[in-house]
Amino acid sequence: MAKKVRVRFAPSPTGGLHLGGVRTVLYNYLFARQQGGDFVLRIEDTDQSRFVPGAEEYIINCLTWCGLKPDEGPHVGGEYGPYRQSERKSIYRQYAEHLVQTGHAYYAFDRPEELESMRERFKTPENPSPQYDHKVRLEMRNSCSLTFEETETLLEDGVPHVIRIRMPENETVSFTDMIRGEVSFHTGLVDDKVLLKADGMPTYHLAVVVDDYLMKITHAFRGEEWLPSAPVHVLLWKYLGWESDMPQWAHLPLILKPDGNGKLSKRDGDRLGFPVFAMNWKDPKTNDLTTGFRELGFLPEAFVNLLAMLGWNDGTAQELFTLEELVEKFSIDRVHKGGAKFDYEKAKWFNHEWIKKLPVAHYRDQVKTILESKGIVITDEAFLDKALHMVKDRCTLLTDFYEQSKFLFETPQQLDLEAVKPKWNADKKAFFEAAASAMMASADWKGADQEAAFKALATEKNIKPGELMMPLRIMLVGGKFGPGVFDIAELIGKEETVKRIHAALQQL
Ligand code: GLU
Repeated sequence: MAKKVRVRFAPSPTGGLHLGGVRTVLYNYLFARQQGGDFVLRIEDTDQSRFVPGAEEYIINCLTWCGLKPDEGPHVGGEYGPYRQSERKSIYRQYAEHLVQTGHAYYAFDRPEELESMRERFKTPENPSPQYDHKVRLEMRNSCSLTFEETETLLEDGVPHVIRIRMPENETVSFTDMIRGEVSFHTGLVDDKVLLKADGMPTYHLAVVVDDYLMKITHAFRGEEWLPSAPVHVLLWKYLGWESDMPQWAHLPLILKPDGNGKLSKRDGDRLGFPVFAMNWKDPKTNDLTTGFRELGFLPEAFVNLLAMLGWNDGTAQELFTLEELVEKFSIDRVHKGGAKFDYEKAKWFNHEWIKKLPVAHYRDQVKTILESKGIVITDEAFLDKALHMVKDRCTLLTDFYEQSKFLFETPQQLDLEAVKPKWNADKKAFFEAAASAMMASADWKGADQEAAFKALATEKNIKPGELMMPLRIMLVGGKFGPGVFDIAELIGKEETVKRIHAALQQL
């Protein structure tokens, strides 16, 4: 019987969640859902020096916002917990010791100054920072260079030590990556990575292998930056006797700067003026706030859609996909090998399309919050829906709803009368006075009827209707933008329309 598909997202809680991280979650999620498998969230917090309070909760909130909920994780539990590596500390040592006993790892007692002096002694112009590997191993203070008795004494005396993997000097390690195909590494180039630290905490390399094994992970999607670590992991799976259970790996292509020149970083976003994190992130140490896609006015549907397309397509020209469609159509075969350039204009295009595509009710509450934060008082929900519906095609970001719709809620304070004045004259003034009176006298209030009456009156007064539309728009909206001017009039109502015309006439 085929094993149940189990995938994991394994972030370290060190700060804001980069869009590349969310794409990793997404591909994990799509694959798990498609295969009827489980999606696990595991918090990789063994590096206490990089731990940032609040980061785990933030990651979970980001996943919730994107609609990518894990089936198991620290916040929901599950059969394979605990899901925080710091809470699994006692599990790892036995595996590290086992590797020592079988000769694949060793105790290393080197103090920081000894490591420093090694780097000094062995550095050459070609190799300015030599690594701890087979070339220097026997020069260092470890259980390979010391006698058995010496090692035992040091251990009994409680001398601080780490456990390092003994990387073979001259082997080729290969595996088949789901995206890249056959990948090979020469072990002589890889250092003897620390597996267990002096404080008893595992490093990422040991913890990731042990936990992927114990949590029965079948497929591991992670960023391409982890590819150089893969030979260490492949060897650990082998040395621990678990080779046949090793997950299939997919190293996802990097998300690149817009010019394609290197990995997209938070700093690039700051420099070029676009978000890189999923949601607002406030660094608890510096209190620096980095704005996220959510707060800038992106819809989760658009965010997920644009991330899916950064490195994948379904082979057709289709670009808009719901999450359900992505689950159905996603295939690893179609994930690109090369990096994907991030294009913020394209990202906004996705959001614009999703704002148009989704019913207003879907994002009403968010927009309401945005409008209220700008001081707009909303009392009538039905009115709000009509207003949002009227302007949605003009909004790229949810935050655009403010500029695009505020005149529907409030009388505009600033009118762009400079646009009207050059062609303004007494006839037009008389026309608008008459038009306002006619409006006031009309029994019912429909935009289409008002438009017909307005145009008829213009013809009667011998003025081209085209010359009156722009002034009317400025009177109602304040500027030369917005939806159909009689649609606006219908929505804001008779009294308000007439009031705005009179107010403008006073100023003209
Ligand atoms: N903790 C690693 C990270 O933060 C996970 C890498 C992996 O998925 O194996 O990216």
